[in-house]
Amino acid sequence: MSILAQEHGVSERFAAWSAEWLPGESLSRHTSLGVGGPADIVRVRDARHVPELVAYLEAHEVPWRILGGGSNLLVADEGVPDVVLQLARGEEIEIAGNRVIVPAATTLGTAIMECAKRNLGGMEGLVGVPGTLGGALRMNAGAYGTEMVDVVRAVTLFNGETRQVETVKAHHVGFKYRHTNLSSHDLVLSVTLELLDRPQSEVLERVKEFNRNRRASQPLQEESAGCMFKNPPGQSAGKMIASLGLKGTRLGGAVVSERHANFIVNRDRATAADVLKLLDLVRERVLKDCGVELEEEVVVWKE
Ligand SMILES: Cc1cc2nc3c(=O)[nH]c(=O)nc-3n(C[C@H](O)[C@H](O)[C@H](O)COP(=O)(O)OP(=O)(O)OC[C@H]3O[C@@H](n4cnc5c(N)ncnc54)[C@H](O)[C@@H]3O)c2cc1C
Repeated sequence: MSILAQEHGVSERFAAWSAEWLPGESLSRHTSLGVGGPADIVRVRDARHVPELVAYLEAHEVPWRILGGGSNLLVADEGVPDVVLQLARGEEIEIAGNRVIVPAATTLGTAIMECAKRNLGGMEGLVGVPGTLGGALRMNAGAYGTEMVDVVRAVTLFNGETRQVETVKAHHVGFKYRHTNLSSHDLVLSVTLELLDRPQSEVLERVKEFNRNRRASQPLQEESAGCMFKNPPGQSAGKMIASLGLKGTRLGGAVVSERHANFIVNRDRATAADVLKLLDLVRERVLKDCGVELEEEVVVWKE
């Protein structure tokens, strides 16, 4: 919990900026892996107030961080002492020709299906990525041959350094494999995409096929944060882990998925400590037996 939790009138203060104060939320309920301790969440309903909100937090010397859909996060059992800013869903997607401005809290699935209705496609490969546009942009999410970098033309963000809201061209973001140059205080507010003319029926057919492939290869019925490690250049982290016979390895309630070895699933009320230990075990085995140092794809939040 943050130091703000002891102050009076915080809820009213945030309400004046159309934001909701949710003290002591268990982050296990806000992450797809289902682990993690408490934090104070500020849910932002009107992004125009972000500069004032951040100024308020910083005037009170309260550290803060950003939560999207929580589908790429592993939060420690102790939670975090920072205030967690999360943009609320509900803002409209704007479509003009092939250009689409998507609010950052929109899920990828919603964006893809809304654009399909206007006969726009080109990002169907990302359909099963369960995050928001903001999180996907930050991670340069990718699947089945499409990455965010392929469709993003501009990004509107609260710049963590200048403390201004600005719109930058895509190349300023510095997209790399599952990485961008955005700082932890650059808060993405909306993303401008350029999509292809594609009939809705064709988009839906492709969506169906990608969903089928994903269901066949990933443990979608279980809680996870997707792939835990990035693929080393030219190699597959999942194949390496599988080749060492690590599928099914269990520590507490955390298990290396039998369906996809790069997924750790929360099978039986796992703690973050279980998952972190299993992550270390896998990393050490791959280093010892394959000579490759795996880099985490999952973002770990510890104090
Ligand atoms: C079943 C499953 C399948 C998955 N498959 C894929 C896949 O195929 N490809 C892939 O790339 N990923 C995949 N993922 C991982 C995850 O869905 C993506 O990384 C997704 O883009 C994360 O988005 P999020 O909104 O959930 O971000 P979060 O998990 O909430 O956050 C991730 C990071 O982004 C930052 N962030 C979030 N929102 C913003 C914002 N508005 N502005 C700035 N920073 C922000 C956070 O601070 C954090 O550092 C999968 C996950 C699951 C559970």
